Amino acid sequence: MKTQVASEAVFYWDQQHECMPRERLEQYQLEKLRAQLNHVHERSPFYRRKLDAAGIRPDDIRSMEDLRAIPLTDKEELRVSQAEHPPWGDFGCITPREAVRVFQTSGTTGRPVRIMISRKDWHETFYEQFMHYRCGFGLTEDDVLFVPFNYGLYIAWWGFQTTMEKAGLMIIPGGGLSSKDRLRAMLDWDATAICGTPSYLLYLAETARKNGIDLPVSRVRKVVTAGEPGAAILSTKKAMESQWGARVYDDLGSTEGGNFGHECVLQQGTHVIESMYIAEVVDPETLQPLQDGQNGELVLTNLCCDSMPLIRYRTRDLVRFNRIPCECGRTGLRLDGGVLGRSDDMFHFAGVNIFPTQIQNLLHEIDEFSQEYQVVVPRMGSGAHLRIRVEPANERISGDQLKKARDFLVEAVRYRITVTPEVEVCDIGALPRVEGKARRLIRET
Ligand SMILES: [Zn+2]
Repeated sequence: MKTQVASEAVFYWDQQHECMPRERLEQYQLEKLRAQLNHVHERSPFYRRKLDAAGIRPDDIRSMEDLRAIPLTDKEELRVSQAEHPPWGDFGCITPREAVRVFQTSGTTGRPVRIMISRKDWHETFYEQFMHYRCGFGLTEDDVLFVPFNYGLYIAWWGFQTTMEKAGLMIIPGGGLSSKDRLRAMLDWDATAICGTPSYLLYLAETARKNGIDLPVSRVRKVVTAGEPGAAILSTKKAMESQWGARVYDDLGSTEGGNFGHECVLQQGTHVIESMYIAEVVDPETLQPLQDGQNGELVLTNLCCDSMPLIRYRTRDLVRFNRIPCECGRTGLRLDGGVLGRSDDMFHFAGVNIFPTQIQNLLHEIDEFSQEYQVVVPRMGSGAHLRIRVEPANERISGDQLKKARDFLVEAVRYRITVTPEVEVCDIGALPRVEGKARRLIRET
């Protein structure tokens, strides 16, 4: 189905549900929810315990009000479950034998969470979700997608690429190349679309300028970004659009939560795939539901995934709901401005969400350094490394010991936080001491 809005064609993947009146949509969601609750009650010991303890019987959930009686799920509970029942925990609904893919979260707020995906979820559920994205972004079989990412445990563009190739786009695999070679391959093979984190795409644009490549005259007309809020931050989006000479679209998802939102060609907020998710917005402190238009934490219930579906999961993403139908014809929920930030103290770097406290936790393991530290986040797109400033614990530590400790910290950050930092060992007392909350984080602008 194709209609025309402004100069861009609008495509739907599942027009029936995307354009359904809310009342009917909610009835549909409640039906899916009851089936999902029965599924987790039967197959996930974790959810069986939680539902039984709250006295919830899946078939009794008849309204959105009833849904709110179901306990929330927090990422820490998933970590505890995996620590107690290694390596997968007991919250999932499949056995390793049923899984075809494994990934792990970036470990932003602690130990990474491992997830398994069944054949059905990988080839059908993810496909369905990313077909919503494909249609939302207006990508077609005529498009050639350049995918600059490396083979690894981070989910990043795996699902998107798998679906796009199934949908008939040509894929150019851009892993294992330098940024300059990626640009060359992208141009040589006539890519029309590219995906990446906003900071990497800005860096790539800067690399192009330095090498005399004029991106706006290239064939690239669509840029898909995920992993950081960039696409939804208007100034970042505008910078990317002018540097690439292309439209930039927001892609929302997480390793454990799946792929729940995409912009449409009109770029007026991020559409939530409500036929596959129930989204709620709550006050992150009181956990009470908020009104549309208020900023709060996004809580998601996965209605379609069979492998490790999460029920009323606290995403920690700050969002603002808008239920006014979009001009594209979709009647479902939009997130104004995509993800507005995180409900905890956190920063984004190289596609990874990082908390200063993660670095603090690592310093606790290194006797040669004091507990004073600063994290310097370079300007988005500068290509510079994250910098960590530390101090020796005392004057007796030798230069050799400091060098070893520094190398250890670089490796630990690389392994546990998945970014490679530069570590600067300052003189004792060089870092500022303040009363109360220290200024650990410095953002370069
Ligand atoms: Zn729309």
